Amino acid sequence: SSTWRNVAQGPPVRITEAFKADSFDKKINLGVGAYRDDQGKPYVLPSVRKAEDKVIASRMNKEYAGITGVPEFTKAAAVLAYGKDSSALDRLAITQSISGTGALRIGGAFLARWFPGAKTIYVPQPSWANHAAVFKDSGLTVNKYNYYSKDTLGLNLEMMLGDINAAYPGSIFLFHACAHNPTGVDPTEEQWKKIEAAVKAKGHYAFFDMAYQGFASGDVDKDAFAVRYFVSQGHDICLAQSFAKNMGLYGERVGAFSVVCANQSEKARVDSQIKILVRPMYSNPPIHGARIAAEILNTPELYEQWLGEVKEMADRIITMRALLKENLEKLGSQHDWSHITNQIGMFAYTGLTPEQMDQLAKEHSVYATKDGRISVAGITSENVGRLAEAIFKVKG
Ligand code: PLP
Repeated sequence: SSTWRNVAQGPPVRITEAFKADSFDKKINLGVGAYRDDQGKPYVLPSVRKAEDKVIASRMNKEYAGITGVPEFTKAAAVLAYGKDSSALDRLAITQSISGTGALRIGGAFLARWFPGAKTIYVPQPSWANHAAVFKDSGLTVNKYNYYSKDTLGLNLEMMLGDINAAYPGSIFLFHACAHNPTGVDPTEEQWKKIEAAVKAKGHYAFFDMAYQGFASGDVDKDAFAVRYFVSQGHDICLAQSFAKNMGLYGERVGAFSVVCANQSEKARVDSQIKILVRPMYSNPPIHGARIAAEILNTPELYEQWLGEVKEMADRIITMRALLKENLEKLGSQHDWSHITNQIGMFAYTGLTPEQMDQLAKEHSVYATKDGRISVAGITSENVGRLAEAIFKVKG
């Protein structure tokens, strides 16, 4: 008998199988977590093309990066996240990572090994599905805090603050810095201030996941508000950054994990322990994508161009939200669809039930996740009309 006879069949990870199998030529895929242009095509940013051409033309060698990656990249990534005048920059331990997921994983492992309190991390309910898996596999216990209200289709601040207050003091809280996935619901700046105060009062530790900086509002500084505010209030946060969405570098796997330390000596110690964690996982990270990102972040002209392109992507998404709502209203839908335009970032949480999502797929060839989340990046000026009709037919 075979060695692997005990291996159980796991559930499928992707939702794209049914989409692929559908032969209807006007089928719509709203399941993907990647930006598409208005023709529904994958998009390589012109600033990325230019930076990549420069990287290739410079004929650099392919030697290994250090354990913590390409320094020109990590330095610039820190400035982008924390701000160029941030007090955190000189006391920041930072490492390049395998995109945002890898940053979360290093962070989980670092906390599991070194966090002085209970090794429990609270993630929002709901959250990106991978959060719980990443943190559990890193050795942390995963709990949930209330975040979203199904009644208002918005933030449930009261319940969220209640859960922050009720958690064992000194727990770890994971926050989506902006463009919350899957709900598209972000706290306002005033709400962040209340959240910060509650976190501080209970001595909790804040871990930020910033996978969409610039992608939410179109402004990289505005989207970094929560991260910078917590730092300004004295929190030694840690942060996972991804350049998958805001630079469209998905498959290049460009990210960073950083820990704000109290001082230089703490930074040196934390840095040494991050290296000890990374070395046996993958020795050192890939260099090509990090060189592209570094080229953009460190070349003023390219940086300006990139800021414009991030804003264009964010604006297209904001426009598609408005068009979807408008089309639903034109069809005569009596529901209040303002959550579609109030939400922000790549995803809209429609409030459709799993049954309605099933019906969208089976009867209208519109594919997304069962939780009612649709990727607004998959909506185009051409398919938005048909999408609105399909939603109107299943929901009214
Ligand atoms: N965090 C959140 C909330 C995300 O939505 C994603 C991607 O969808 C990630 C992290 C990590 O993505 P990546 O590993 O591609 O950077």
